[in-house]
Amino acid sequence: MKITFPHMGNIYVPLKTLFESLGCEVILPPPCTKKTLELGVANSPEFACLPLKINIGNFIEAIERGADTIVMAGGVGPCRFGYYGEVQKEILRDLGYDVEMIILEPPRGNFLDLINKIKLITTQNNKTIKDLVRALRFAWKKALLLDNIEKQSSKLRPREIEKGQTDKVYNSLVKRILDVKDETELETLKEEISKAFSKIRVLKNKTPVKVGIVGEIYTVLEPFVNLNIEKQLGELGVEVHRNIYITDWVRENLLPSFLKPKDCKNILKLAEPYINCFVGGHGQESIAQIVNFSKKGFDGVIHLLPFTCMPEIVAKSAIPRVSQKFKIPVMTIVLDEHSAEAGFRTRLEAFIDMICHSKEVKNIAVLSGN
Ligand code: SF4
Repeated sequence: MKITFPHMGNIYVPLKTLFESLGCEVILPPPCTKKTLELGVANSPEFACLPLKINIGNFIEAIERGADTIVMAGGVGPCRFGYYGEVQKEILRDLGYDVEMIILEPPRGNFLDLINKIKLITTQNNKTIKDLVRALRFAWKKALLLDNIEKQSSKLRPREIEKGQTDKVYNSLVKRILDVKDETELETLKEEISKAFSKIRVLKNKTPVKVGIVGEIYTVLEPFVNLNIEKQLGELGVEVHRNIYITDWVRENLLPSFLKPKDCKNILKLAEPYINCFVGGHGQESIAQIVNFSKKGFDGVIHLLPFTCMPEIVAKSAIPRVSQKFKIPVMTIVLDEHSAEAGFRTRLEAFIDMICHSKEVKNIAVLSGN
């Protein structure tokens, strides 16, 4: 069994660890590139969601490297994610690829159901439940560490003295985490991480503009699709926080409800005056997180969505009211296969300039007592 799965940010690190710990051979698709996008666009329905198209590109590239089994997350509506996996299966069959596709549906509170599906993979390699638990724990620890270095990098980027140093350290750490073979080595790596970050020289007194990123999970997590927004904002001197990290998604979607942290449930309440029911994807979360970012004193929010993404279009319709009520600027960016870096950068620069200008106006007003 040569397993592959689609890219979505750094999720390939814990997934590779999980499947390799369970005795599977993992064939990683190459990182997403223009070629991945072109393959996906050429072989998917025109109005399919952008993430579906890029996943198809990932699958084709991985199959050409020898993968014979695809593990894909399933969905439960009401948006198109519910039939994503099935559509992808049909596309690959029509293209003549003879691959096994394992679609892991979100358990919606029934954790055992998910475990049973993963067991389909483990039994082939004579692994026990104990092995599965050990593998899940190891992958989880890597995911936590990845989230941690992403958050630290976002803080350091706008403050670094030597431009690009944070990214250099970050990229080498992701590679180190990927290569770690056991939990003891992972513990040692934690010290190495703090040392590596502490060597980055920063402007200690700088107070950067703080921007939150919310929106559809794939566009928020995959740097190829969001044109490396976190890095670009960092270069513009902005500290970035996302509404979702890999471990948040696991906690919210895969844990049985009694183990879910309270803040997951409470945060959605913030969206209730604007969207009071589940609209699919992260539509409700996007609104809740805009309110949350505003309450935490952020200077602005960027809302990302793929073209035609239904849940985020619903969220977008509520944004003007939220933005007005909480006096927080929100810029929505729709991403598709035609998104280009130059225009994107100009929009980011204009948004940040606008935030800086309004902060200056506010400061002048405070100083002059108006
Ligand atoms: S959340 Fe949006 S992009 Fe993702 S499957 Fe649903 S409609 Fe498509």
